[in-house]
Amino acid sequence: MFGKSITLFKLLGFEVRIDASWIIIALLITWSLAQGVFPLYDNTLSPVTYWILGVSGALGLFGSIILHELSHSLVARKFGLPMKGITLFVFGGIAEMDEEPPSPKAEFFMAIAGPLASIAIGFICIGIMNAGINFAWPSPPIMVLNYLGIINIILAIFNLLPAFPLDGGRVLRSILWGWKKNLRWATRVSSLIGSGFGLMLIFLGIFSVFAGGVIGGIWWALIGLFLRNASKMSYQSILVKEALQGEKIERFMKPETATVSPDTTVDHLVEDYAYKYHFTNYPVVNDSGPVSVVNINDVKNIPKEEWDVHTVDELAKPFSTDNTVAFDDNAIKALSVMNKTGNTRLLVVDHGGKLLGAVAMNDLIKFISMKLNLEEDIHQTYGSEKQE
Ligand SMILES: [Zn+2]
Repeated sequence: MFGKSITLFKLLGFEVRIDASWIIIALLITWSLAQGVFPLYDNTLSPVTYWILGVSGALGLFGSIILHELSHSLVARKFGLPMKGITLFVFGGIAEMDEEPPSPKAEFFMAIAGPLASIAIGFICIGIMNAGINFAWPSPPIMVLNYLGIINIILAIFNLLPAFPLDGGRVLRSILWGWKKNLRWATRVSSLIGSGFGLMLIFLGIFSVFAGGVIGGIWWALIGLFLRNASKMSYQSILVKEALQGEKIERFMKPETATVSPDTTVDHLVEDYAYKYHFTNYPVVNDSGPVSVVNINDVKNIPKEEWDVHTVDELAKPFSTDNTVAFDDNAIKALSVMNKTGNTRLLVVDHGGKLLGAVAMNDLIKFISMKLNLEEDIHQTYGSEKQE
């Protein structure tokens, strides 16, 4: 979401990744626990102990967020929604999904599962802590359990704010969706509320900075900005999906004219194709027909002075789901492959693998904006969103 993410492990079939931004947050949490929070409870421990406790607290939070996201993902899987994985990033976690939930009921249970998991973890930690106090445990485990208990309850409450796309906003959307049977309207209303919450957090943050709480204030403002941005994007993605609903790739396909022969040298590929057509990929065609695809980004792996001795054949990759789509696939699928791979242009094939043409992101975008412009009901909701 913000940059590079690292895959850590697989949990019940879901890939767990961390965004680079999370590492910075983990360090900040460790530091503030070790130097700020824990010494307030008990100042008799050694410096090393505080750092160990800080790391334990941060790891505990890490595990808690994974369990929260895992609950969303498990419920989603139960409702038949394909999930890509779990990514931890600066403000917590995200259970990534490609599609909208199939029904209001599915969305309600998917959304509520995460906060319920956080509440359960919070109460379990507090329960163990109370038992520990009764058995006169030393202060270190008590402090970590206390922190994890409180932070999980805070996580649950924050996520339950009715601000889309936070969990509470999704719960709200599912209720509105079930009531009016209109996903776009439900998304619009809950996004506007989400956006409003974002604005409120930004003002709270600014107020807090002037009142002397600079670090806390900056945090609130950042979370507010993030929330506003995310709620807007979620609504726009609904509009795009609706505009492309039911449209087949065929409609956007153009005949492929720029084909490359496998023995073309890389300098020719750059000069006669890349600088002429500005496409990111070209089908490689020999006498028997198309055989593979060459992506212009792979040229960068070869030093410029060697471009005249290497051929396209060495760079070409076989047809795959990353560079081709079928002519009767949904256009939304092409858009999601483009987003995932960064290929702004995909080759279109029939079911026998025969090359039919190509589809470019630009053509999809032009179609979407034309449709939003012409079709009155979409235009109205989009227009009022733009004016704010
Ligand atoms: Zn959640």
